[in-house]
Amino acid sequence: MNLILMGAPGAGKGTQSERISAKWGIPVIATGDILRAAIKAETELGKRARSYIDAGQLVPDEIVIGIIKESITSDACKNGFILDGFPRSIPQAIALEEMGIRVDAVLFIDVEDEKIVQRMSGRRVCTCGASYHVDYKPSQKEGVCDKCGAALFVRKDDAPETVLKRLMTYHEQTEPVKAYYAQRGLLVTVQGQEGVDDTTRLTLEALSRFLKR
Ligand code: ADP
Ligand code: ZN
Repeated sequence: MNLILMGAPGAGKGTQSERISAKWGIPVIATGDILRAAIKAETELGKRARSYIDAGQLVPDEIVIGIIKESITSDACKNGFILDGFPRSIPQAIALEEMGIRVDAVLFIDVEDEKIVQRMSGRRVCTCGASYHVDYKPSQKEGVCDKCGAALFVRKDDAPETVLKRLMTYHEQTEPVKAYYAQRGLLVTVQGQEGVDDTTRLTLEALSRFLKR
């Protein structure tokens, strides 16, 4: 099962992909997480990516396409994978097709811009990849990751000005990818809900309906 998750920044792709992954037993490849890990480790890749991410822009296509090529050919992905945050541009979608990757479904989580801005201000993340929201998905102990016990922090690119820039980037470069997959009959749309569990329920229902069609 090869699945793509799409949606504006902060729409809940990360949270939902974690849940689908737990349920279906296939790994998530999250380009944002991979890039942030590279920045933290100060690798060559991280150095190249940092300025783009901090500015709310897309990292150049060749960089993320390289990351994806490496990840999906790994052994862990032999039964399928969930892509969170890729493809984010038409050239990336074309590159994926040219890799000969079959896409089974593209799940689009629909959330209005106003809600996005509100949500990002409450987002808290962990270096382990876990992500929380102070109101909608709080950690059990405030400021501490449920999964690994590390201290949670606010992502630098969740600053209000950068959030607006990321939304603009999303509308300009990523939204066309939706049409690309709609034309191929692969797009499944779910309305993002206030409650994370409600979105998960709708997501799993919509996906199983689509895959049984
Ligand atoms: P969100 O979906 O909340 O914006 P991500 O963690 O998916 O967060 O991405 C964070 C940043 O990483 C993006 O704003 C962008 O700069 C970079 N990035 C992630 N995935 C891609 C991609 N496929 N192409 C280009 N840049 C990417
Ligand atoms: Zn953690």
